Amino acid sequence: MALKESEAIVLRTYPLRESDLLVTLFTRLEGKVKGVARAAKKSKRRFGGALEPLTYVRAFYDDRERQELVRLDSCEVIESPLAAEISYPRAVALGHVAELLDELLPDREASDAVFRLALSVLQELRGPALWMPLTYFELWMTRLMGFLPEFSECVVCGRSLNDSRAFYHALADGLMCAQDKRLASSEMSPESRKIAAQMLRSRVSDFAGIEWPKVVGADLRKFLLQTLERHIEKKLVTAGMLERIST
Ligand SMILES: [Zn+2]
Repeated sequence: MALKESEAIVLRTYPLRESDLLVTLFTRLEGKVKGVARAAKKSKRRFGGALEPLTYVRAFYDDRERQELVRLDSCEVIESPLAAEISYPRAVALGHVAELLDELLPDREASDAVFRLALSVLQELRGPALWMPLTYFELWMTRLMGFLPEFSECVVCGRSLNDSRAFYHALADGLMCAQDKRLASSEMSPESRKIAAQMLRSRVSDFAGIEWPKVVGADLRKFLLQTLERHIEKKLVTAGMLERIST
């Protein structure tokens, strides 16, 4: 019986019985796959260190039964986030990437674009930079899931927003002009709209080394998270945790 083999990113693990783990993997081969790693807590040889969230692995698994859960045979670490120091903000940032992938990806649907996005953002999250890679990841996930509206025109009247103020609201789908904005809307700054446009035509590594405090693009990230939460119809746990990180 041949095992399937795929590059994968570990998204989550849950304890299952005494020594087994339930593992959610984002595989390159067939998207999000859930499986059971038997005796994972005992077997250093088959899984040693490979099941930490956000570890980039080569996974070997068996799903001949076509059941919901595959049997995870073994994983080899290709790259571990634990290779670099894990500060609390970095742990939250990694958790955010994992939560977005887990919540937004459908089961068993390969997406090479999302896989490459995740790898490139994880690469940037190895250093001290936090808000730049997170802004890039949230923006591109929103785009790749098909939820990103046009930023250059009002979603209500269609008027160009290029030289005017733009507003957004948790219950509306795009940006609105000053006339059409709802009560209690927030404003998206021209700077953040410019950042979004730049990020949509650049690689995440193009922004490496740029000083990027939390305030840069904060309105854009708030808009993106509101958009994503509206589509998944739930609050993201890590969004609140990121909110409380101060720098
Ligand atoms: Zn309008």
